Amino acid sequence: MRKPVIAGNWKLHKTVAESIQLVEALNREAAGVSDIEIVVAPVYTALQNVAEVLAESNIAVAGQNCYPVNSGAFTGEVSPALLKDIGCRYCIVGHSERRQLFGETDAFINAKIKALISEGLGVIFCIGETLEERESDQMYEVLTRQIREGLKDIPADAMQQVVIAYEPVWAIGTGKTATNQQAAEAHAFIRGLLQGFYNEELAGQTRILYGGSVKPDNVDGLMAQEDIDGTLVGGASLKAEDFVRIINFKRG
Ligand code: PEP
Repeated sequence: MRKPVIAGNWKLHKTVAESIQLVEALNREAAGVSDIEIVVAPVYTALQNVAEVLAESNIAVAGQNCYPVNSGAFTGEVSPALLKDIGCRYCIVGHSERRQLFGETDAFINAKIKALISEGLGVIFCIGETLEERESDQMYEVLTRQIREGLKDIPADAMQQVVIAYEPVWAIGTGKTATNQQAAEAHAFIRGLLQGFYNEELAGQTRILYGGSVKPDNVDGLMAQEDIDGTLVGGASLKAEDFVRIINFKRG
């Protein structure tokens, strides 16, 4: 029904040579896996080389970020059209590091999602609450706002291009994973939001990934949850052995 997605976000790590070495290893170990989608998101400088290595493979390449305009006087930015030009099929948007460190707003993220959709690219749209928000009972309000504003004016038919990644900020890069139950509850809530903002069919078709310290030893429990359709993996995606184990999560 919903094809799982296992995506690796390499953040600001790896030279071109190291990136090629990693995807060559992934290609050897995981290229035959066809029951899930595998995505890797290297740094900009390695994107083209990685896309070339993976050109014949079933592993897709993603940008980690983009600017919502295709060309113009925007020094230092990279557009959806340019990501597509070098072979990217996806782009991550709304990652909490971009929201927190670079001040990205829901409206800006919404503009990026629209620009990526117009280019025919897939979107990995990250949402998630901070620890403070969770502890002060604002989690559901925050997730509702992020979904409502991030997906504002995005029609139901374009939602086929959107994968949502629920990433509780307190679990990213901290080694603290949400429990299976915490993750399952948040995912069920997000699916309910999609049903409310769109409809039941769309909610049933949209993939919702979990991200936040996913590792070889916790992936099976997370992936066993009904509403978890894959994982967005940071640290553990930098080592071929760990990422391959995550790709080979226990199938139900
Ligand atoms: C991420 O970067 O999206 C992430 C979830 O990182 P980590 O797996 O290292 O927590």
